[in-house]
Amino acid sequence: MTNSASPAPFPKRRTLRSGSDLVQAGLAEPGRAALIDRAGGIFPVAVTPHLADQMAAGDVLARQFVPEGEELAADAAGRSDPIGDKAHAPLRGIIHRYPDRLLLTPLLVCPAYCRFCFRRESVGQKDAVLSDAELDAALAYIESHPEIWEVILSGGDPLMLPTRRLRAIMARLESIPHVAVIRIHTRVPVLDPARMTLALIGALDSAKAVYAVLHCNHAAELSAETRAACAAVIKAGIPVLSQTVLLAGVNDDAQTLETLLRALVAMRIKPYYLHHPDLAPGTAHFRVPLARGRALMRALRGRLSGLCQPDYVLDIPGGFGKVPVGPDYAVPAGNGWRVTDWRGGTHAYPGGPRDIAGTGPT
Ligand code: SF4
Repeated sequence: MTNSASPAPFPKRRTLRSGSDLVQAGLAEPGRAALIDRAGGIFPVAVTPHLADQMAAGDVLARQFVPEGEELAADAAGRSDPIGDKAHAPLRGIIHRYPDRLLLTPLLVCPAYCRFCFRRESVGQKDAVLSDAELDAALAYIESHPEIWEVILSGGDPLMLPTRRLRAIMARLESIPHVAVIRIHTRVPVLDPARMTLALIGALDSAKAVYAVLHCNHAAELSAETRAACAAVIKAGIPVLSQTVLLAGVNDDAQTLETLLRALVAMRIKPYYLHHPDLAPGTAHFRVPLARGRALMRALRGRLSGLCQPDYVLDIPGGFGKVPVGPDYAVPAGNGWRVTDWRGGTHAYPGGPRDIAGTGPT
């Protein structure tokens, strides 16, 4: 017999998509529901059941996925196309910024939406999935450009594709002689690890070199399920690297980064990039000064094995590409160099005019 006075149990096993969903799940205070819905009208709100299980109101996961008031504040530095994708998009689904590699984005959908997303103007919005004809045209573009050595499947999240469609894309890429490497950028193992079935992982199998790059910002994202999903990808013969966005209030201190980077390497995941946050609109509350990022990288040097060191990179606004912006350990001094060790001690290193001018053999 049921007690008709008790509230209906909250359906925890569905993605939370509104202010009232988040309030009912205890992940936001009741007074914030309207604000969350306003923010969700600009960039969708989605919190998967897995994330909701890991998250508590106000923690580092909630900060990444539950909108805060600052998201709606004026943001003078924000840009609608923060890394200049549009200047390098010859057709839908292709971003061709560098000569030898490009991004193929078959869909702009993710299981959950990170509030700092640098593609928030296109991800999760209307027309988020390429039609068959558009996908065919994007693949034909790759076929007709023999300089393309590496294809980066990104989005959105390519592991949101139906298994059959993902397998078909992988097969078509495998058939292109000049494509040597296929890279998969994903956050699915963190956001919805149950999606990482052996069938989905099997769809990534290829005669070409396949790498996966996991987006992970905090050790709290590495649940047992996430670890198992990553282990299954590695067991399938796919090396996994990681990328982390440096985010104020989430991971902008040396101890948090150290814990994350050690955990990743212990999972056999090689840290690849630490991204300086991009100038996406409504994300000012996540931005960290560049000088702070450089100081953090300096603090990690020596404290952590070289295996744990990511490249600290900045995507230059306007579409000019990614560059390392970590600290300089060697600067010209007199006829040589002044080199700084990890403790801050400085040392002279000999050089000559040719060396200083950078005209030595490459
Ligand atoms: S997973 Fe990546 S593309 Fe998707 S919302 Fe997060 S940052 Fe944006």
